[in-house]
Amino acid sequence: TTKTSHSIIEQTDQYGARNYKPLPIVVSKAEGIWVEDPEGNRYLDMLSAYSAVNQGHRHPKIINALTDQANRVTLTSRAFHNDQLGPWYEKICKLTNKEMALPMNTGVEAVETAIKAARRWAYDVKGVEDGKAEIIACTGNFHGRTMTAVSLSSEEEYQRGFGPLLPGIKLIPYGDVDALKEAITENTAAFLFEPIQGEAGIVMPPEGFLKEAYDVCKENNVLYIADEIQAGLARTGKMFACDWENVEPDVLILGKALGGGVFPISCVVANEDVLGVFNPGSHGSTFGGNPLACAVSVAALEVLEEEKLADRSKELGEYMLHELKSINNPKIKEVRGKGLFIGVELTEPARTYCEQLKEKGLLCKETHENVIRFAPPLVIDKKDLEWAIEKIKEVL
Ligand code: PLP
Repeated sequence: TTKTSHSIIEQTDQYGARNYKPLPIVVSKAEGIWVEDPEGNRYLDMLSAYSAVNQGHRHPKIINALTDQANRVTLTSRAFHNDQLGPWYEKICKLTNKEMALPMNTGVEAVETAIKAARRWAYDVKGVEDGKAEIIACTGNFHGRTMTAVSLSSEEEYQRGFGPLLPGIKLIPYGDVDALKEAITENTAAFLFEPIQGEAGIVMPPEGFLKEAYDVCKENNVLYIADEIQAGLARTGKMFACDWENVEPDVLILGKALGGGVFPISCVVANEDVLGVFNPGSHGSTFGGNPLACAVSVAALEVLEEEKLADRSKELGEYMLHELKSINNPKIKEVRGKGLFIGVELTEPARTYCEQLKEKGLLCKETHENVIRFAPPLVIDKKDLEWAIEKIKEVL
């Protein structure tokens, strides 16, 4: 017998740690852009698991790769080679135009990996005095939930009660090149940033910032590390959000859609001068680079390319942004975004609007209290998007 949404939510609330506050909807099935609850109600997914499902739920090609590989071998650990890791390395390096990749599982592990690489690079390559390396990050950032990532954060709630925090971190206001210049010292290893801040509420830096910050990093021998975990992989209308300003980061951090919403996989890609700092024994992960993740990821990347999902996101995103900007409602403070990565900032909390959108068959989640994030799977077609926009207009 299938359980009701109500009983599932009760069970979840009874036994689960309370570190999340989900909308009261249970998803028990999904396909493409649609999800369904146990009672058979259908909703258009406007969140895409924070952009992990850019390819749509259960994309057939990705599910095929998963089941094929599951029937052969799923895990070897890195004590042995597996036959899927090599092809994945080549795929991701060619896609990013880099020499090397290092696979992990979740986004934050890849952030950790990038910071370890940057620190070791500072000591071994740049010549920073031992123990003095600094990382510069931005206010409003979100890089995940480990101690390192929360140490980078400017959000009090992400840090409260978790100290002592990691030292060697400086924050600058997001988008401020002059502040970046001032923050750099001879000990600076890296500048870590999101090309668009997703969790902060789809916050975009001033135009030109990505390129100007890149130039400042180059002038000062500082690694330019782009966390493209949420904004990358076609979400903003380009394969990578840094492509909007034609910059090639020294280090690229990827996750989420890298596994097509099917299997967790994340990675750091860079050239030999940076990732070459890792030697056997210096870093690793039991599940990192496992054959199941690699097979899924190759398929997930092929779907992005074959279905030209970046172009689709760009085109439909421009249309959606234009439509949402045309809504005349004094409660809307700003509509902003790139591609199908759109934030609507309100003058009041967004939660009740998300609840109303849910009643109309649209699943959205507020971010940072006052912002509704719209990020449907990129396989959405114009007709379904028009339907969604109509519902949004009814609520706003
Ligand atoms: N970095 C960015 C930009 C993110 O948006 C996220 C997740 O939302 C992360 C890192 C952390 O990824 P994960 O939750 O897979 O650890």
